Amino acid sequence: RGVVEKILCQRSLEMRDQQRAWQESPEGRRIMEFRSSLPAYKEKEAILSAISSNQVLIISGETGCGKTTQLPQFILESEIESVCGVVCNIICTQPRRIAAISVSERVASERGEKLGETVGYKVRLEGMRGRDTHLLFCTTGILLRRLLDDRNLKGVTHIIVDEIHERGMNEDFLLVVLKDLLARRSELKLILMSATLDAELFSSYFNGAATIKIPGFTYPVRTHFLEDILEMSGYILTPDNQIDDYGQERIWKMNKQAPRKRKSQISSAVEDSLRAADFNDYSLQTRESLSCWNPDCIGFNLIQYILCNICEHERPGAVLVFMTGWDDINALKEKLHTHPVLSDPSRVLLLMCHSSMDSLEQRLIFEEPEDGVRKIVLATNIAETSITINDIVFVLDCGKAKESSYDALNNTPCLLPTWISKGSVQQRRGRAGRVQPGECYHLYPRCVYDSFAEHQLPEILRMPLQSLCLQIKSLKLGSISEFLSRALQSPEILAVQKAIEYLKTIGALDENENLTILGHNLTVLPMEPKLGKMLIFGVIFNCLDPILTIVAGLSVRDPFLTPLDKKDLAGAAKSQFSSDYSDHLAIVRAYEGWKDAEKDLVGHEYCWKNFLSANSMRVIDALRMEFLSLLKDIGLVDSNMTSCNAWSYDMYLIRAAICYGLYPGICSVVHKDKSCSLKTMEDGKVLLHSNSVNARETKIPYSWLIFNEKIKVNSVFLRDSTAVPDSMVLLFGGSISKGDVDGHLKMSGGYLEFFMKPAVADMYHSMRKELDNLIQS
Ligand code: ADP
Ligand code: MG
Repeated sequence: RGVVEKILCQRSLEMRDQQRAWQESPEGRRIMEFRSSLPAYKEKEAILSAISSNQVLIISGETGCGKTTQLPQFILESEIESVCGVVCNIICTQPRRIAAISVSERVASERGEKLGETVGYKVRLEGMRGRDTHLLFCTTGILLRRLLDDRNLKGVTHIIVDEIHERGMNEDFLLVVLKDLLARRSELKLILMSATLDAELFSSYFNGAATIKIPGFTYPVRTHFLEDILEMSGYILTPDNQIDDYGQERIWKMNKQAPRKRKSQISSAVEDSLRAADFNDYSLQTRESLSCWNPDCIGFNLIQYILCNICEHERPGAVLVFMTGWDDINALKEKLHTHPVLSDPSRVLLLMCHSSMDSLEQRLIFEEPEDGVRKIVLATNIAETSITINDIVFVLDCGKAKESSYDALNNTPCLLPTWISKGSVQQRRGRAGRVQPGECYHLYPRCVYDSFAEHQLPEILRMPLQSLCLQIKSLKLGSISEFLSRALQSPEILAVQKAIEYLKTIGALDENENLTILGHNLTVLPMEPKLGKMLIFGVIFNCLDPILTIVAGLSVRDPFLTPLDKKDLAGAAKSQFSSDYSDHLAIVRAYEGWKDAEKDLVGHEYCWKNFLSANSMRVIDALRMEFLSLLKDIGLVDSNMTSCNAWSYDMYLIRAAICYGLYPGICSVVHKDKSCSLKTMEDGKVLLHSNSVNARETKIPYSWLIFNEKIKVNSVFLRDSTAVPDSMVLLFGGSISKGDVDGHLKMSGGYLEFFMKPAVADMYHSMRKELDNLIQS
């Protein structure tokens, strides 16, 4: 023991000397100067002393004040300087992987180190940490996974949960778990960080925990609402209808003003579209796309007009444009690329900032452009609080973000661009005033802003709870309802019941809400329970290889690309991969083709030709390996096996696996004349997403479609689907009951019940029983 202590002490001294030397170097000095200018730095002593005298501390401070990058360093540095040496082991969670990576890179560079020395990170599929890592940035999901094996988080001294104001599902869940853990481990420190001043809520949750507010400083930001922007271009906006009606009807009228002095000449195309615009609906959805702004609609024209105006007339400074999602960003980028000023690389550097950008793109957004070039960053709400770009002076805010929500009654997830909260507006606006006074253009009228909610609803109140319920069970946290009743805000009882009922139907929980063997296995697999179940089926029936591809494919962004202007070509390319009414099998063939092309080093050309995302293909490849190794870990697959049981060409089996996994995601196909109508049990009539291969078919030869995901936009759309015959549904989905009439079918409450003559029913029963036994054993 004495020897170990001596070595540790020696190591601490080395670290201290290294740090001191770095801080004395010219680059180190420059960084220290920057760091000490941050508002958080001025509170360093107060923060450290609050941490040492409290078990739980809540820190709030404006975005960019230095919470994420500085606070963990304060703890680390104080230990390096202390006489006892470095004994801390800090974990700092981030809601998004991209933030975990970018922040850890930044912190390592501020310490003059390479990533993986004292500072590391761990996100799904990636990580970098070493023997000396004392500060680890990870996603909240990674910490929750770790709790599975190590429920006391042995050796961890500080847990920092960042961005708690976002109220993500994982973060809310983690807080309940940590609250119990703190009682068991009195020396463990918990620090919660928030960008907004809602500290009281969290403080009272942790029995009046201490709070520190970092005073912020931002320059004033001039705010322009839609009416101001239009006035600038010579229009006024007058209410035309009841304000209550917005969202339904056109409530604004554009009136040409007596020509006042115009700030700049706007093009007649913009003028036309401004005149024709329906201002409630500038985030108008195109018929089939889920969230896409129509590139010709007012929103895009307005943004282009404002950007152009800034480039032509305004002082230097970068521009940040908040869009609803990745597809909108892409569509806008394509549009701006055709604009003479905005596409000129000697004047404009156009960048994107979203959760799936790669690290090169990420680095670019922090860099200063050359003189005379204006940086324009098109971003999702990730740039609201997680990522701070320093030189922003102008912000454009579309007022919406894609928000996932969930209709518990019909068990239907929705993904709709919805108006953001006043809190988010304030965050977005604040981004403009970090280095000098800024300007913020809100692309909606002030009275729409007035109607925004103060804060966004937390995820736990608006998302399906199935995975959460499984996690509660696997961490042995007792009754699901009891546990959830202890959350910061508890979800509706109906939503909890639906989730439990679903888990029982798929066989993950037994009648008494205990985890079954299948349920146990599903908690180890980091994917939705139904996809995990599909994998296990694949193992048992020797068709794991294609199922791995399907499950990986469903876990990434759609690998099939559909550029707005080449929809037909892209659709045709996807159809080539499916001759058998299945989007899922299309993923398998596309991936197999890409693998072959990669062997000949022509993977990129292959993707280009077939409208596939090369990035998604690579991620599918990596996920397949990860899932396989997890299956090996839980002993379902022989650990010596290199290729996963011979690629089975048995299409019936693969379809059966899809059916078995995705049931009760089932929809009936009824042919009438030349068209067919689709119905699910909860929603009634549904439609196919235009990207589905089945949407291009005139006749589907089976009476059922099994689907992975439905989503409510205006109607309910099914995304990926696979057609399956009756016999398959009988064997792999629904329940079988005895009745008089053979083949009578009842649909209710989201499930299928088949009534059959007793003898036949008995036969099916025993087959199903055997199958369930296999899966559960
Ligand atoms: P907070 O967590 O309070 O929002 P951060 O700690 O993330 O603030 O950032 C503090 C400051 O550090 C930011 O204002 C920004 O100027 C700078 N910063 C953060 N990350 C980077 C980076 N990757 N590159 C350059 N500067 C950065
Ligand atoms: Mg932060």
